[in-house]
Amino acid sequence: MAKTFQNFINGTWVNAKSGKTFENRNPANWAEVLGTFPSSSKDDVDEAVKAARAAFERWRLVPAPHRGDILRKVGDLMTARKDEIARRMTREMGKVLLETRGDVQEGIDTAYYAATEGRRLFGHTVPSELPNKFNMAMRMPIGVAGIITPWNFPMAIPTWKIFPALVCGNTVVFKPASDTPETATILVEILAEAGIPEGVINLVHGGGGAVGMAIVEHPDIDLVSFTGSTSVGKKIAELAGKSLKRVSLELGGKNAQIVMEDANLDLALDGVLWGAFGTTGQRCTATSRLILHENIYDKFLSMLVAGVKKLRVGDGLKEGTHVGPLVNEGQREVVEEYVKIGTDEGATVLHGGKRLSGGEHEKGWFHEPTILVNVTPDMRVAREEIFGPVLSVLKVSSVEQAIEVSNNTKYGLSSSMYTQNIGYAYTAIRDIKAGITYINSPTIGAEAHMPFGGVKETGNGHREGGWTVFEFYSEWKTVYIDYSGKLQRAQIDTEGT
Ligand code: NAD
Repeated sequence: MAKTFQNFINGTWVNAKSGKTFENRNPANWAEVLGTFPSSSKDDVDEAVKAARAAFERWRLVPAPHRGDILRKVGDLMTARKDEIARRMTREMGKVLLETRGDVQEGIDTAYYAATEGRRLFGHTVPSELPNKFNMAMRMPIGVAGIITPWNFPMAIPTWKIFPALVCGNTVVFKPASDTPETATILVEILAEAGIPEGVINLVHGGGGAVGMAIVEHPDIDLVSFTGSTSVGKKIAELAGKSLKRVSLELGGKNAQIVMEDANLDLALDGVLWGAFGTTGQRCTATSRLILHENIYDKFLSMLVAGVKKLRVGDGLKEGTHVGPLVNEGQREVVEEYVKIGTDEGATVLHGGKRLSGGEHEKGWFHEPTILVNVTPDMRVAREEIFGPVLSVLKVSSVEQAIEVSNNTKYGLSSSMYTQNIGYAYTAIRDIKAGITYINSPTIGAEAHMPFGGVKETGNGHREGGWTVFEFYSEWKTVYIDYSGKLQRAQIDTEGT
């Protein structure tokens, strides 16, 4: 009998008002139902927002260092449960245990970082242009934050948003992806256990169309932080624009690893195998394109094929698995469709290209790690996000051409160049249009204390992570304190002072 999970509203675990539910299944074995979750609607969102709004009036007055102390406890609880959470995460979304442990660790790092930020949240003091007057600007909480997240980093991404939102004094209504409701539930359990007061964190499970939209449209939600596809991000921006809600969008990517003729090829090989096929290619920062200098093209491709042949595809819970399943049936179909689009456009499958079935693969959404060659920059497989274990390889003859090809996409999240040449490296850092550039490491590997996000259609200019995320979750209040005892008029009474 599958376990029944609930929403968390105003400090209480509750069913959806409609009583409707949905099932959560294991992508490595779709016959295994992991639990049933509330299929919520606007009514449930209304309840959650009501609770969050009331709680905001209390939470905003809790000193930020105390809010941070609770998050430190959250980090401690996550640390104690790290392996258990990782196993449950692998079971519900498929990536291998090594990676789900990393996902939890990113949440832990984010908790400790946010905890210390409770003792900073720096403002500014600035001299006044008038005598006996004091100027400062300080951060204020904003209100109720609507948090909408994808399934590929089911712990890390929610923590990137929820922890800074909370430490800044906001309350939260959280809608996780319906492919990963269990990990989201664990996170909220931990927040409650650590002492987050009732109403401050609210969890509403369900679909994007019903719950996600209701959050975006709700007049009492002040800000929305969304990570997901560019198509949904655009819809959210449009809707939120109507009420001038503050919106942070972290969207798709089509990231490239460039390997120059002077690169350390063994290092570049390790990088691309990890970047392209880690998380089964389902990272926003996944290496989806490999741009090779013509001088090392043939040699590197044969190294690559030999490396990919060693990757073991299977259940992420099993020791020795390198590549897990796709998250669901639809995602595997997208991958198959893109392999066909590529070959129809003239690309060649150098390795893989097919779904895996039979034996241990029979009941999971498995697909072979796939390499496409003879790819040209104008092809869809060179420009569009696939979100699966498919690597499109392109050939170039100079650093300028490599960067031009790397930039030839509507996205701009991550990028990488392997080279020993300092001139190439700095040219890449300056000219690649992406939010993140790695030199001599793969396109994946964000650290919690650094800004994270992209340019072009990868987002709308905000950054998660690091010190930058606190900008999004707080509003500046400018304060002037005049102790001169008389009316002083800025810009007018400054002469002669
Ligand atoms: P998705 O856009 O389908 O869904 C993301 C979330 O939005 C889910 O919770 C979903 O239920 C919800 N949603 C769907 N439709 C909605 C709507 N109309 N209104 C409000 N909410 C709605 O994306 P996904 O398939 O879960 O994730 C994969 C995508 O996320 C990829 O494009 C990937 O690149 C992107 N992603 C980006 C980053 C980043 O930081 N840039 C990180 C991870 C994933």
